[in-house]
Amino acid sequence: MTKRTHTCGELRREHTGTTATLNGWVHGRRDLGGMIFIDLRDRYGVTQVVFEPHHAPEACAAAKELRPEFVVSVTGVVRKRPAGSENPRLSTGDIEILADRFEILNRSEVPPFEIRDDVDANEDLRLKYRYLDLRRPVLMRNLLLRHKVYQVIHRYFDGLGFVEIETPVLMKSTPEGARDYLVPSRVHPGKFYALPQSPQTYKQLLMVAGFDRYVQVVKCFRDEDLRADRQPEFTQIDLEMAFVTREDVFAVVEGLVERLLAGILGVSVTLPFERMHYDAALERYGTDKPDTRFGMELHTLTDIMRGTAFTIFAAAVEAGGIVTGMNVRGGAGLSRKQLDALNDRAKALGLGGLVWVKVEDGGLHSPAAKFLEEGRLNAAARELDAAAGDLLLLAASPERRKALTALGTLRLELGRERGLIDTSAHRLLWVVDFPLFQYDEESGRWVAEHHPFTGLYPSDVPMLDKDPGAVRADCYDLVWNGNEIGSGSIRIHDAELQRKVFRVLGLSEEEIRGKFGFLIEAFRYGAPPHGGIALGLDRIVAILAGTPSIRDVIAFPKTNSALSLMDGAPSEVSAEQLRELHIAIGP
Ligand code: ASP
Repeated sequence: MTKRTHTCGELRREHTGTTATLNGWVHGRRDLGGMIFIDLRDRYGVTQVVFEPHHAPEACAAAKELRPEFVVSVTGVVRKRPAGSENPRLSTGDIEILADRFEILNRSEVPPFEIRDDVDANEDLRLKYRYLDLRRPVLMRNLLLRHKVYQVIHRYFDGLGFVEIETPVLMKSTPEGARDYLVPSRVHPGKFYALPQSPQTYKQLLMVAGFDRYVQVVKCFRDEDLRADRQPEFTQIDLEMAFVTREDVFAVVEGLVERLLAGILGVSVTLPFERMHYDAALERYGTDKPDTRFGMELHTLTDIMRGTAFTIFAAAVEAGGIVTGMNVRGGAGLSRKQLDALNDRAKALGLGGLVWVKVEDGGLHSPAAKFLEEGRLNAAARELDAAAGDLLLLAASPERRKALTALGTLRLELGRERGLIDTSAHRLLWVVDFPLFQYDEESGRWVAEHHPFTGLYPSDVPMLDKDPGAVRADCYDLVWNGNEIGSGSIRIHDAELQRKVFRVLGLSEEEIRGKFGFLIEAFRYGAPPHGGIALGLDRIVAILAGTPSIRDVIAFPKTNSALSLMDGAPSEVSAEQLRELHIAIGP
């Protein structure tokens, strides 16, 4: 094999006259009046190679055999392209190589899809042939960007005195909200390891050990039901710090995001990020991960509607619920059909329906105007800052969260449809003070809103017994353009308090000992106050790469149903393997 002297992205006008050898893949071939043009591709770029019959007749004749994705080594002289035939879209577009000779290093079957950025093959096919899909420049660029992100992370945390420590992949099953992936033990029949949903307990134990600032870019595993754009294994930037308040954690994370945006996109962000209380986020955006790249905020109209003759609203208020509304600027032109569609959508989101109000020059028009008093309607319009041409959407429910989240979802959908989102903007904020627990109707008990190690406001400790739902967690989510990018908290470091929280979560003393005894025990030996966060690396890279799907920034992703289409995992195993693991497959 003649080894390359240059890559396919390297040659420029100043190389004119040099003899170069390139190694790469045939990206495309064009035959033009006896001449053959080859685009040769590697991960650095594409270079045009010309075979001319009068220059190298043998090579030219042999080049007819070249097909897309053949691997070749080509040697020739670099020359300027004839005036007018330069390709400004290629970094090598000013030059071409006049081939003297070439070798075929390997042949390729006809690939199942063309290796082009704008490929039109379905994703399943591309996942099956992921190694070919990864040849596409877009995906290659994404992985190179991901590599750059790793470098920024390692440098940044090293600079701040963080220690990178690996934690086990085979660990004790300690549920953290999702289902564990289990690994059977061969040498301990009937026992299982779990793959980490996160290294949460380990990083806390590292704080007990005294490491004080820990970081790890780490794979985590969660066996969740199908949800769009989730992966059963994903990567977190996991960190933990001792002797800190949440402001210290914020400062570290904000500095990292600032570096990533500056270093990778050349974008600057304003620090510190906005902090928003969970309640305010829910009330103003109908979600705990508000996309603040556009307005159209929700406004609570409960007080205005208290006692109205419009019974749906009155009943919601009476029942301790909420009336909320938002202003779709310039939406008064929506047709009856479009309004009906919005109403159907609201119903699908769990609301009884939507009340719409068109703001027109002559006044307010709404099908609810028969019942809804003019004074209240006007007050609502004022609260929503209505102007002629606007459309107001009002919703009510005895369940506050239901009304807010439904309208919040509509806000996002309308924001997208109406092109209100500035997709070049980067808006980051912290959502803080979530409730510590959420009541789970199905199981009839309290569950942790984040995870059971989350600390709480010291002043709320007495409420653990009386009113768990009112206890505020000392926790925070990082939200980036409406995506929850990270979640963390100041932790419990007191053995008794941790035990108490487990009890509120319905764990018996025996379960506490069995599942978390090691952690509680560690807390008895001088656990420092500590806190941390885990950031979703895949999502961060996806945002930086400007792609909506994390599959586009993971080398070998699984489908939404956790399948690896390329190698067929998960797959059956032999009876012998199962026997060794003491496992019998049920009917
Ligand atoms: N371990 C948590 C998670 O993965 C994050 C944290 O609290 O640090 O969501």
